[in-house]
Amino acid sequence: KPNAPVLDSYWMPFTANRQFKAAPRLLAAAEGMYYTSSDGRQVLDGTAGLWCVNAGHGRRQIASAVERQLTQMDFAPSFQMGHPIAFDFAERLAEIAPGPDGAKLDRVFYTGSGSESVDTALKIAIAYQRAIGQGTRTRLIGRERGYHGVGFGGISVGGIVNNRRVFPQLAGSDHLRHTHDLARNAYVKGQPEHGAELADDLERLVALHGAETIAACIVEPVAGSTGVLIPPKGYLEKLRAICDKHGILLIFDEVITGFGRLGAAFATDYFGVTPDLVTTAKGLTNGAIPMGAVFSSRKVHDALMHGPENAIELFHGYTYSGHPAACAAGIATLDIYRDEGLFTRGAELQDDWHAAMHSLKGLPHIIDIRTIGLIAGIELAARDGAPGARAYDVFVDCFEKGLLIRVTGDIIAFSPPLIAEKTHFEDIVSILGDALKRAA
Ligand code: PMP
Repeated sequence: KPNAPVLDSYWMPFTANRQFKAAPRLLAAAEGMYYTSSDGRQVLDGTAGLWCVNAGHGRRQIASAVERQLTQMDFAPSFQMGHPIAFDFAERLAEIAPGPDGAKLDRVFYTGSGSESVDTALKIAIAYQRAIGQGTRTRLIGRERGYHGVGFGGISVGGIVNNRRVFPQLAGSDHLRHTHDLARNAYVKGQPEHGAELADDLERLVALHGAETIAACIVEPVAGSTGVLIPPKGYLEKLRAICDKHGILLIFDEVITGFGRLGAAFATDYFGVTPDLVTTAKGLTNGAIPMGAVFSSRKVHDALMHGPENAIELFHGYTYSGHPAACAAGIATLDIYRDEGLFTRGAELQDDWHAAMHSLKGLPHIIDIRTIGLIAGIELAARDGAPGARAYDVFVDCFEKGLLIRVTGDIIAFSPPLIAEKTHFEDIVSILGDALKRAA
């Protein structure tokens, strides 16, 4: 299995690699901040895998918890049945749940991935509206350049037109205008000062469609996969207020921002804006076992679980909801986050991280740098007639030199594990800086 430029890798997803006309580069092992490539080189992980390995790789505590659980009980049905570890994990999640004390979103629904969490949250939102006598509210609003996974719900509310072009979408889905143009080329650290009024775009959609048709609005607090787009100050607050005014549920997709990425447990806490539902996955189990979870307010939970009969029209649940091994991984992961203080580590590292990333300003091809918490987006000018090609070349060069970065179009995204040290930031800057100087 060499790193060969051929496309016969039938076991990989068929489109995610096709666009680059090359077989994927192979990673064979991982420990701490580093991968080992199949040809034995150390590769610094600048992206925590895919925004998920927040506590770093190879955590023995997680591996042994999973082994213990699988030995004791490998699987238990999640319909009409439960198992203790699923409840133990839910209790632990309730303690750290997003939202202020007294109003935490401490009711949890387990899923198997981020995409499943998104579909689950969208369905809960519609079912909740119905349970409170608002059955006409079935429309879902997302945002341009939002990414919410690849389920039919996720692509419908998602703002990447290419991902949904050839598929039917949920009837009536619509999208807020994105916030990106405003902040572009401004080299902002943290939230842009201006632009909160972009949230008024929700009023436009309410006027267009009628509030009585809209169930929920879903946004990533910081859009990750489409290039680290950070909400202007006041934007999320405004969205919250407009949703409240019109009886629309607000959903934060925290699949990336959850579990410490911004220097708080959740973006909900970091921004101090509380939605009705929060979708998570990735860092929930440190990426070790696939799992997702939707956090819900008690208001929404109780209407469905204890509300009128029609609430039971929500049939929803997965074979692997609350999988015992995933719950075991999740509890061990929460132990690590707590014992190592990783939810606040991003806040401690933030100044060094921002300084390191913004020190790249002025290097060839860079047209913007955006940082928040332990995330960064570095935007490159596209090569003429070949969007994404330059960033892809930089990705290949960095990988050869021992750094894993993520490219999305012409934007480079970073999200290092939260166990990173300042020296890792220096290595990232040095390897990426050299690659940019070499890039055509
Ligand atoms: N929502 C967001 C915000 C994401 O970033 C992702 C994955 N990058 C997803 C949903 C989908 O998660 P998954 O790939 O686990 O289905």
